[in-house]
Amino acid sequence: MKYFQFKYLLQQEGWLQNAYVKTDQHGIIQSLSTTPPQEAAAIEYVNGFAMPGFQNAHSHAFQFAMAGMAEKHKPGTKDDFWSWREAMYECALRMTPDEMEQVATDCYKEMLRCGYTNVAEFHYLHHDQNGKPYTNLAEMGERLLSAAKTAGIKITLVPVFYQQGGFGMEPQPRQRRFISKTIDDYFHLLDDTAHAVTKFDHARLGFGVHSLRAVKSQDIIRTVEQGPKDIPFHLHAAEQLKEVEDSVAFLKKRPIEWLLENVPMNDRFHLVHCTHMNDSEVAELAKSKAHAVLCPGTEGNLGDGIFRLTDFYHHGGRWSIGTDSHISLNPLEDLRWLDYAQRFTTHKRNTFDDGATVLVNNTLLAGRRAMGNSSQAYFEVGQPLDAVVYDAKAPLLENAGSNHALPVILYTADSSKILGTMINGRWALQGRAYI
Ligand code: ZN
Repeated sequence: MKYFQFKYLLQQEGWLQNAYVKTDQHGIIQSLSTTPPQEAAAIEYVNGFAMPGFQNAHSHAFQFAMAGMAEKHKPGTKDDFWSWREAMYECALRMTPDEMEQVATDCYKEMLRCGYTNVAEFHYLHHDQNGKPYTNLAEMGERLLSAAKTAGIKITLVPVFYQQGGFGMEPQPRQRRFISKTIDDYFHLLDDTAHAVTKFDHARLGFGVHSLRAVKSQDIIRTVEQGPKDIPFHLHAAEQLKEVEDSVAFLKKRPIEWLLENVPMNDRFHLVHCTHMNDSEVAELAKSKAHAVLCPGTEGNLGDGIFRLTDFYHHGGRWSIGTDSHISLNPLEDLRWLDYAQRFTTHKRNTFDDGATVLVNNTLLAGRRAMGNSSQAYFEVGQPLDAVVYDAKAPLLENAGSNHALPVILYTADSSKILGTMINGRWALQGRAYI
């Protein structure tokens, strides 16, 4: 049993001042009050603004090994998403299980430092360097789980089905580590991964397909039909214009349009990117209750395009954020990118009225759904105390008060303003010092 006194604690209604939070030995919240405890108890005072930990709804941990290292190219050569993908394949082909675990551990520690307490790891680097399954089919997945444990972050491991090289194309040799040829192969991998997940605390399972181009359309439908019904389903969709063109040529439908017509979409679905949607897709995707997962740092870095967030929001669409290739790991930077891209294109400010509240609320609640966690309250009795705490002594925050603190954090702060990140009532790290 332990008490914390937070100078401010964020709830959906706003900041609670002097919030006393009691946790049990597992870090589960036992009580939450602005009145000091009656019992004699040690209280840890935290001079900061505590917010629920950010949810990183889309990660490929191995790509952390190449973040920032594919930014130079020969003059006169083409440099776009597809040339970046070649560099990414080289990185993927080299990586051993030990290297995967090390890179993922470093990546997850950095996520914690930036205020993420949860990550959904979209995992497709399944097999050995020759494309053969490891003796333990879930070897690479277990390395990711182990990395999350070492770093101290909560993980939802999402092993995804990757079957072919593109619409109607055989896999390319450099995709060999990703491939499950049949749906049975994939479900075998999913079963073994589910078993691996049970060996770790703070680990959950999701599933999905890599993208419309990477799995035959009838097998996407079967994966949804025959797969688990109670865990999140993730896939990439409509990231690149070429992908939309190929989809129209092959499936006679745009990617989001095809999904809406062929898959019973609901709030269990998490569609990563959705960059290229027409008016009808924006409205119908929002109506379906499926979530979009936006990765503005990576989408900007790869030149994908701008998600139609303002339109999607006004249709009631729900969305989370992810760091994807990890070119940016700061959730505040990614949320600013999202907002500012709308301002650039609409020539308006405050496109969401209270931008900070809207951005934080959406990415938190939809992000939790992407993890397989349906809890809605920011902090509540019976839930773990997972938080990121911003320093109340930081110059701009010192005078912000409860009315402006959230916008000051969202629009001005970086990770240097973080006092620490807390998982289950323990500091996973404080300042820059890993604990
Ligand atoms: Zn991705």
